[in-house]
Amino acid sequence: MGWYLHIDMDAFFASVEQVLDPSLQGKPVIVGGRSGRGVVTSASYEARKFGVHSAMPGFQAQKLCPHGIFLPNRRRVYSEFSDRVFAILERYSPTVHALSIDEALVDLTGTERLFGPPLKTADAIIRCIEAEVGLPSSAGLSTSRVTAKIAATLAKPHGLIYVPSGSEEDFLAPLAVELIPGVGPKTHKALNQRRIKTIGDLLKHAELTVRYLDLGASSERHHHHDHSIGNETTLDKPVIEIARMEKILWELVEEVGGRLRGEALFARCLTIKIRYANFQTITRSRTLPAPTCFDKEIFEIVSDLLRQNVSPGRAVRLLGVSASGLRSSGWQEPLLNRDKRTAYEQLYKGIDKLRRKYGEDAIGAATPRNRAG
Ligand SMILES: [Mg+2]
Repeated sequence: MGWYLHIDMDAFFASVEQVLDPSLQGKPVIVGGRSGRGVVTSASYEARKFGVHSAMPGFQAQKLCPHGIFLPNRRRVYSEFSDRVFAILERYSPTVHALSIDEALVDLTGTERLFGPPLKTADAIIRCIEAEVGLPSSAGLSTSRVTAKIAATLAKPHGLIYVPSGSEEDFLAPLAVELIPGVGPKTHKALNQRRIKTIGDLLKHAELTVRYLDLGASSERHHHHDHSIGNETTLDKPVIEIARMEKILWELVEEVGGRLRGEALFARCLTIKIRYANFQTITRSRTLPAPTCFDKEIFEIVSDLLRQNVSPGRAVRLLGVSASGLRSSGWQEPLLNRDKRTAYEQLYKGIDKLRRKYGEDAIGAATPRNRAG
């Protein structure tokens, strides 16, 4: 039997800022969205009381929390803190999956001999991060990865939820289906139409359980089944020119591509979201012949989707890109040119390394047309 600890830092960027400047402790700290354009990337729990949350447009956060302390993103600083947290996790397990800059799945299977029962280890890890790095985190401990993730979500902020072996279903049954990672609003609606509101309802349908909530040891295979990785931005001024939209699209693509590569995933389907100034919103998707995680390939598809679907002359106020149909390998398809893929992999490894080192703007200045790759 395996033991998985899903650990997620609480309000990560905002907490880092509070560690670096103790006068910010206990205050509503909001990272990102300072200019009104762009989105909040992290909000301290003090700011969340006012309804501010990450991914919220900056202007909205400013309205909800006018006395909030708005700070710029400092990716490089957050990366350094992230490295320190991961270094601690790696002391306790040889298998640490980074799910994002502030979220990890730590495989505690077989660590009993060295560190004692998994619950004791989980507690030690959280205390250690707090003592050495100064940051609060929350975690879920379970025999299944999905359950561990859900438990970590419920444990927030600053908690640890342990789901003993054999009690997974009892723990999950009363919970709402939208707590399952990967169940977005669309799936949520579809499930609700089938009167599936709780995870307990879902468990009565074997095929849906496998699809959304694989509790078995093979969860790796289905883990990302309905999961998607996306990014969108509200424009401070509506945009009419396609070239400008493409520039914004490229920034979104870089972020989505970076996250795919960070999670070692390839996308089979790409979706673009366009919202016009009158709030009419359209989404258009395309399934790819071969899965990808490379910015250039993603950009080619989404810019094509943009050109084919945007109404000429209409002002656009929001653009979004998302990747779905995620899988852990891009090599299964007969169509691809393996040499090209290998070259891309090397190139993007370098790009991601630079971005981690120097921040996301380090190599984001070039326009889509004259970029390498
Ligand atoms: Mg977090």
